[in-house]
This record gives sequence, structure tokens and C-alpha cells, in this order.
Amino acid sequence: MSDTRRTATPHLPRRPIWLCRACVQEWPCPTARTDLVTEYVDDTVALYVYLAGMLFDAITDLHRLNPEPGPNPTRMYDRFLGWPASHLAIVRHTRRAENDR
Ligand SMILES: [Zn+2]
Repeated sequence: MSDTRRTATPHLPRRPIWLCRACVQEWPCPTARTDLVTEYVDDTVALYVYLAGMLFDAITDLHRLNPEPGPNPTRMYDRFLGWPASHLAIVRHTRRAENDR
């Protein structure tokens, strides 16, 4: 028996703890990262602006929850802004490979 009517939980952040609503990993989780680069592959400036806004909100929330020592700035930067370049390169490479067929 299949349950095709079941709606999947989107991989979005649960605030203020910033864990994924679907898979409970730190957001952006691997699925969210894949979804984001797929959505924004043709508008990377918008992707970075979006993620920078999310980074600001996450630091604010997490600092409020745990002010001492607070979120690690380097780790937070890597978590939100350190990954898109390599993911975008993979999506573009895959697209080129598909177009060359
Ligand atoms: Zn997730």
C-alpha cells in the first residue's frame, strides 16, 4: 500500500534552534543545500544574499539561546556561506553534461 498523498516536510529551518524541520540536522542540511543551489543556480547573488540573511538571523537566535560562549563565527560562516561555490560547480557541471548528450 503506497501513501502518495503524504506531503513531504520541506527541509526548512526550525527556529530558533536552526535544525532542519524534516531531518533534524543543522540547517542548511544536505537536502536543503541541494534544493537551494538547484533553485538559485542562475542567480547566485540572490542565493548569497538569502543565505547571508539567514546567517544573521541564525546568529541572533543562537546567541539569544546560548550567549556564553555563543555561536562560533567561523563555524557559522562555513555552515551558511562556505559551501555554495562547490555545490554550484557540481550543478553546473551536471547541467553541461546533460546538455552535451
Ligand atoms: Zn533536512
